[in-house]
Amino acid sequence: MPTSPARYPSSEPVEIAEKLVYSFGDGQAEGGSHLKELLGGKGANLAEMSRLGIPVPPGFTISTHLCVRYLKEGQLTDALREQVREAIEVLEKSTGRGFGDPDNPLLVSVRSGAKVSMPGMMDTVLNLGLNEDTAAGLAAQSGNDQFAYDSYRRFVAMYGDVVFGARGSNGNDPFEERLHALKQERRVERDIDLSARDLQQLAADFRQIVVEHTDREFPADPWEQLWGAVEAVFRSWNTKRAIDYRRVHKIADDFGTAVNVVAMVYGNIGEDSGTGVAFTRNPSTGASGVFGEFLVNAQGEDVVAGIRDPEPIAAMQTQMPGAYEELLETCSKLEQHFRDMQDVEFTVERGRLYMLQTRTAKRTAQAAVRVAAEMVYGGLIDSNEAVRRVTPEQLDRLLHPTIDPEAAVTVLATGLPASPGAAIGRAVFDADRAAEMGANGEDVILIRRETSPDDFHGMVAAKAILTQRGGMTSHAAVVARGMGKCCVAGCKTIDVDEAARRFRINGHEIHEGDWLTIDGSEGRVIEGKVPLVDPGLDEHFEQLMRWSDEVRLLRVRANADTGPDARRAREFGAEGIGLCRTEHMFFEGDRIHVMREMIVARDEAGRRKALDKLLPWQRQDFTEIFIAMDGLPVTIRLLDPPLHEFLPKTDEEIAGLAKELGVTTERMRHVVDVLTEVNPMLGHRGCRLGMTYPEITEMQARAIFEAACDAAAAGHEVHPEIMVPLVAHVDELRNQETIVRRTAEEVFAEKGRHVEYLVGTMIELPRAALTADEIAEVAEFFSFGTNDLTQTTFGLSRDDAGNFLPQYIEAEILPRDPFESLDVKGVGKLIELGVQLGRRTKGNLKIGICGEHGGDPASIDFCHTTELNYVSCSPFRVPIARLAAAQSALSHQ
Ligand code: ADP
Ligand code: MG
Ligand code: MG
Repeated sequence: MPTSPARYPSSEPVEIAEKLVYSFGDGQAEGGSHLKELLGGKGANLAEMSRLGIPVPPGFTISTHLCVRYLKEGQLTDALREQVREAIEVLEKSTGRGFGDPDNPLLVSVRSGAKVSMPGMMDTVLNLGLNEDTAAGLAAQSGNDQFAYDSYRRFVAMYGDVVFGARGSNGNDPFEERLHALKQERRVERDIDLSARDLQQLAADFRQIVVEHTDREFPADPWEQLWGAVEAVFRSWNTKRAIDYRRVHKIADDFGTAVNVVAMVYGNIGEDSGTGVAFTRNPSTGASGVFGEFLVNAQGEDVVAGIRDPEPIAAMQTQMPGAYEELLETCSKLEQHFRDMQDVEFTVERGRLYMLQTRTAKRTAQAAVRVAAEMVYGGLIDSNEAVRRVTPEQLDRLLHPTIDPEAAVTVLATGLPASPGAAIGRAVFDADRAAEMGANGEDVILIRRETSPDDFHGMVAAKAILTQRGGMTSHAAVVARGMGKCCVAGCKTIDVDEAARRFRINGHEIHEGDWLTIDGSEGRVIEGKVPLVDPGLDEHFEQLMRWSDEVRLLRVRANADTGPDARRAREFGAEGIGLCRTEHMFFEGDRIHVMREMIVARDEAGRRKALDKLLPWQRQDFTEIFIAMDGLPVTIRLLDPPLHEFLPKTDEEIAGLAKELGVTTERMRHVVDVLTEVNPMLGHRGCRLGMTYPEITEMQARAIFEAACDAAAAGHEVHPEIMVPLVAHVDELRNQETIVRRTAEEVFAEKGRHVEYLVGTMIELPRAALTADEIAEVAEFFSFGTNDLTQTTFGLSRDDAGNFLPQYIEAEILPRDPFESLDVKGVGKLIELGVQLGRRTKGNLKIGICGEHGGDPASIDFCHTTELNYVSCSPFRVPIARLAAAQSALSHQ
């Protein structure tokens, strides 16, 4: 007996063995869904289901820490081996079977699972523990030889593929080829029609394939099998397709995968068994009710791989009513528990249901909105949570086009509507080619017999995906939905010949490069290019928008230049127009001629003559917009672009125009030369035009106020806001303001009516932001023109930036294109300063933003925190901005 008092050795700290392995089963678990980092999503949720008393086969999870360590050290540690041995013992007790016991073998699956779901990215081995002896034992014990050898041949093939990477000399799957050849020999269509003897022979052939491939015997010892599989799962973290997936989804490379070892349950043991995948609601539409697919007498990935055509889940009701009922109950329990739609994998063994996986279901944008809304109605989540759950990108997708129902289309074939939306592109038959053409900016449709994770890069590049085989839960369908790409899967009538780069349909051939239109909402494959139309939005969408509106602080306006645009913007919920660009009104139809007449005129009198002709057109446009925006503010920007933009460029055009306007070609060329600028972006434009040609400002102001008075006279409530562009100095604004106000008074006197209006300015030059306190003495509102402000802050022209900006983003000098997402550090600082200085002068100064950034969620968040009053964006992005503004309000609460 040691007599010395308890003490710790001074040199070495006590090593408390790290827990590496977490068991679950029999209604208990050491882990749970809170341990996703450590156990991966699959392992954490298997543990959680076990705790909830949901039937899960027992098993254990090896922590992700070990993966990171293994990838560094290249071998499994003794501590791990020890803990796995103990966990297998627990499993043996729980199942009453023995690992490697020929009379009563314990078989397991070895499955990967990282903390974020990476569907199909890593590999699974089923039926591990089989060898000649245990297979014979399993046959004897189950009284079902066919089942035992079916399991065995599956195991050898999966192990040969995943662990040894066995490939045929032609790169094909050698096991699949051997199986195919045997089926042809036996003249059977389905794997399950092969006899036990054939399956046993197949297992032997498969082992021989492995020997040929590796020059090694296929391991018969279950322990050797297990260690090999664990290492293979760890290694699969670094396969090309896993790395590609992480890159695309911006997932870090350093956290590793867990390994799940789970006692096998047998879906391939007879007609009262099977395997399936299900969603607790419809992942395409969001409709309630369990949705999924099921295969009788099948195992593992058969459903996903499209080996046989699965049946809809409801078919289970007649074939195995007990298991079906339990599945429905389990789905409902899982939804209640996780408070979100789940995607589950299950197996039925002799009528008994086992859950093998649950995770938050990927869903289309349409489904995301509907599920969020209906979960609020069902009391599962509150409306704020619903607002948080739908991403702005999803709404963006919802607002994507579909096929014009009026269009005459030639439907070549119809498959499953696996992921909605519509897209047009050229047919391509392999992923590399799709990626290559996509990189060149071409629109492609990736067409495959069926997709596998190796096709991922091609799917990313494609506008749409079409497969000949597979169901609604096939790889193609799941991945496409996750990416929001339209997809038609299981289009059986087409005959895809990947090697020849074509498919046949009813004697018709489609070759690489041919144009197709894919309708993922209806499952249609359509010949050629078909017109697409804007989507209609449903009640759930409207509801989500109302919930967003309740919490957001930012107002959302639209950039709209015409009556129809204004009406659309209003339908999408715009609370005003933040930017109406008047120059667009000068380009249409005959107007450009009159505009040119004005530009070519030698003096003010000549210009006024032309402007008088433009006035009624402008007035009419404004009247239409005021009526459309009845009761809401309309910000109208005075003429902004340099005048040369309205003039022709080529000699031919110049001569033509000269003739048209009745001037000499020399005079015409002179005008063009005079107006041509070296740096038009920094040239004679914006208020600088109004300074030199005050009659233009005058005409525009007159058109605005006459329209406002007319609309008001017709009973509409009008709120014009006149915005002066490109102001650098307060006196420019003062000058233009004087013209505007004087014109207003004239019009009001003529019309005998007064209309309230504001005069403000764009802040789009650094000097304007820096002197915003002075500018606010005159301006009644500010609107940050962030496109020009970005150009002038960076000192680069957007039109020329294409030569170098992409490299900056590649090199991560800039995190994103500053024209897409606001450069918060630089341009944002000027905005903050402008807001601060402006409001120092006028405490209640109304401030908005009207660049393209007004529709970008990250930029909107900045606008929220900078306490702007509104953002303005294109009509189609209005709903996105409403949601993003609400999410900002919630996240900064
Ligand atoms: P993935 O991550 O690709 O979905 P999984 O590890 O979930 O891979 O395994 C794929 C399929 O294998 C499961 O959906 C299930 O049908 C089957 N499977 C996995 N483990 C078992 C098991 N212990 N018993 C029966 N089938 C299993
Ligand atoms: Mg898999
Ligand atoms: Mg799975």
